[in-house]
Amino acid sequence: MENTRNIALNSSSSATQSGLDDDLDSSTNALNHDSSGALNPLEQATNAEKLTHVTLYSAPLVIPVTGPLLIDGAIAVSGSRVIHVGTREWVLKVLREQLSSSAQVEERRWKGVITPGLVNAHTHLQYTNMREVGEGHYANFRGWADGFNVVYEQLQHQPGSIWRDSAFDGARQLVENGVTAAADIVTDPEAVGALASQGLHGIAYWEVMNWDNQDWQTAGVPALMEQIGAMRQQRIPSIGISPHAPYTLASEPFVELPDIARQLNMRLHIHLAETPLEAGGDGTTLTTYSAATWNNRDWESYKALKNAGMDASAIQFLDQLGSLGPDVHIAHGVWANAEDRRILRQRGVGVALCPRSNRITVTQKDAPLREYLEEGNLLSVGTDSLSSSPSLDVLDDVSMLWDLAREQGYDRPDLAHRLIRMMTLGGAAVMGLHVGPGRLGQINAGAPADLAFFDIPVETHSPADVEHTLEVLVRQGAGTNRATVINGRLAYNRNAFDAAEEPAPAAH
Ligand SMILES: [Zn+2]
Repeated sequence: MENTRNIALNSSSSATQSGLDDDLDSSTNALNHDSSGALNPLEQATNAEKLTHVTLYSAPLVIPVTGPLLIDGAIAVSGSRVIHVGTREWVLKVLREQLSSSAQVEERRWKGVITPGLVNAHTHLQYTNMREVGEGHYANFRGWADGFNVVYEQLQHQPGSIWRDSAFDGARQLVENGVTAAADIVTDPEAVGALASQGLHGIAYWEVMNWDNQDWQTAGVPALMEQIGAMRQQRIPSIGISPHAPYTLASEPFVELPDIARQLNMRLHIHLAETPLEAGGDGTTLTTYSAATWNNRDWESYKALKNAGMDASAIQFLDQLGSLGPDVHIAHGVWANAEDRRILRQRGVGVALCPRSNRITVTQKDAPLREYLEEGNLLSVGTDSLSSSPSLDVLDDVSMLWDLAREQGYDRPDLAHRLIRMMTLGGAAVMGLHVGPGRLGQINAGAPADLAFFDIPVETHSPADVEHTLEVLVRQGAGTNRATVINGRLAYNRNAFDAAEEPAPAAH
């Protein structure tokens, strides 16, 4: 293949001026070199000359997300980290200046678009083997849930590591679709290592459901502690807690689970405002006023509140319990009125939109995407599981979100840009993974090198051409990922480069 080659760096100024093509060489340039061993981050930030090997991923269009689009862009990667991103010409110039002449630069040239690794902000990888449920047709959400339970019970009694195998299969599908991080809800303990099995980033959320207030203290809390202890012993990289939904958990678990998670420095992920029964009233009144009629007594559950005739939404109810905050993101957010959306913004709660799942499970409504976009809520995209979705390709949902936004009247020209943000930086942000040394959903110096390579036609002759390319990516990008890099490791390579896939580091 012609798309991988070694570049000989020459630090003399005359060579620098000789033009880029002159710098390309078919052989690796390895002169005397006194570098030794791996560099710590401080050394790496200031002593690039000590680097011995740099991989340069270049493409006609690079989308860093945290910086402007790059036409003829490149990303220099050393070890697990990005060291530079910019135009290819600039990155090569900087490498020439910084690296010793003996350093090896291997260029992997891509013909399409490079983005940060995508983030699937809501899925249940262990249900990858439940495709038949997702292919069914249901009269309402209850009908889907009943259909789900029948198949789940059948599978539960199968011999072998059925949930583990299914979850690991799902994790591989994520990688093949360009996803490098996910919010994965885990219901059965053997599925908890799915993200780690592929070296994926993200959080495995332990699901808690079907507890009333009485059993919660005596049985629920001890069971939770036992599970979290076991997962910590297995050294699963990142664990969170998922209180399932307001219709499967009473009030006490919704008060205590956030407290427990926060004391253990774990994040939370809740199915919220997914079903019609979670809808509130007209939503134009601040909850400060509307909740005065009901927040002064202990409700057994959200259902009890509704049965008493209060028209509070599930979002408002959980907010009164103190369950929400910037360490929480919710899945679906379909039945969210203006006050609900305000609460989510006020508390710093992000939403993972799962538009295809909403149709299959008959939520009876699409999310208010236009309002979310215009009002500025923190948004991300999730596929949900194959028990309610045809694929684990985030771009399939992004494509549907494009159509929904336009149908709902969102007519601003930034839609492709916002969807790209949602499927990358937005997904990282809803899980609190967008800042710090492990920051995801972005391509910039020092960040983990997580990249996806989409095989779509790139036109960059004019700004309108570039905009059109972005629109093609978000509307027709599903199924076009050809390579995935996670932590600088080529985790998936479907003939994109003449380089071998590298296995995930063994999970602990
Ligand atoms: Zn779900």
